[in-house]
Amino acid sequence: MVQVIEWVNPGEDEIIWRYPNEVIKWGAQLIVHEYEVAVFMRDGKIYDVLGPGRHTLTTQNLPLLYKLVGGSNSPFKATVIFVSMKQFQGRYGGETQTRELAPVKYYGVYWFKVADPVLFITEVVGGQSLYDTADVTKFIRAYFNEGMMKHLSAYSIVDLFQNLDMVSTQVKVKLMEDFRRLGLELVDVKIEGVNTTDEWRQRLFWIMQTGNAQYVMQMDTAKQVAAELGKSEGAAIGTGMVVMPQLLQQPAQPAQPAQPYAGGGVPPAGYQQPAQPGAPAQQAGQEICPYCGKQIPAGARFCPYCGHEIKRCPNGHIVPEGAKFCPVCGAKIE
Ligand SMILES: [Zn+2]
Ligand SMILES: [Zn+2]
Repeated sequence: MVQVIEWVNPGEDEIIWRYPNEVIKWGAQLIVHEYEVAVFMRDGKIYDVLGPGRHTLTTQNLPLLYKLVGGSNSPFKATVIFVSMKQFQGRYGGETQTRELAPVKYYGVYWFKVADPVLFITEVVGGQSLYDTADVTKFIRAYFNEGMMKHLSAYSIVDLFQNLDMVSTQVKVKLMEDFRRLGLELVDVKIEGVNTTDEWRQRLFWIMQTGNAQYVMQMDTAKQVAAELGKSEGAAIGTGMVVMPQLLQQPAQPAQPAQPYAGGGVPPAGYQQPAQPGAPAQQAGQEICPYCGKQIPAGARFCPYCGHEIKRCPNGHIVPEGAKFCPVCGAKIE
């Protein structure tokens, strides 16, 4: 009976398949379907590679193995691994920290395929001794996630929430390079969402309102920011507009009057350079959606960009999700 080596009915998510019999006879029929490659390995080393088609295994098409077995025509030992060259989709999700150590959760989808089966087998399958397709898929997902974590952590929280498109594009390029090293082509990556804790969301909200990340980051908590804002002139005017520009013009006034540091040399620990006022992030009559960061019409009840409901205090100030008091006027939120 002729030995037939064929990957019968590969599953949709199966990236590799190992032919269970390691004893191969000359004259065996090797069937390689479209979008498949058959790789012959022995002792973790790759010898011959055959593409799509119906092959009768001879000394001609397996020259390296034939040489290895010393030109003998008796059955020889080899591991046959089929590799699917189709495109696969994977989901990812994880947690990392931004440059400011803000905790960030993220999730999305990515698409990949094998670009270089020999490199892929060398680096992943043989290199990691993963001969089961589920293990290989798991490895690729973990590798992707690790890269995603690493690359995202180079960004600030403001970039992640306000310039996600830019961040996605840049991170994608880096991940593509990572994948190329495994013989894989990362076809596309989509970041579907990023999220952070309530506290950081409040801080982010103020950064987006004031456009002054440095100032807000100096505040320990969102509560402290709110207290600061309460002190600024005009903050209590219930116009329905968030009155940040006043604050922006004097962000250098800390809660305690700054200790004038007259001495020469290095300022003592704890002495902070007054923050530089940032450019106002918004024009009059415009507010910023705390969920997507886009400018929205003053007084809007829903963001026209992301559709999120805009929560307001009784005086009309935008308040962050979950806030119990308005950070601008201190009014209790129902
Ligand atoms: Zn929005
Ligand atoms: Zn208010």
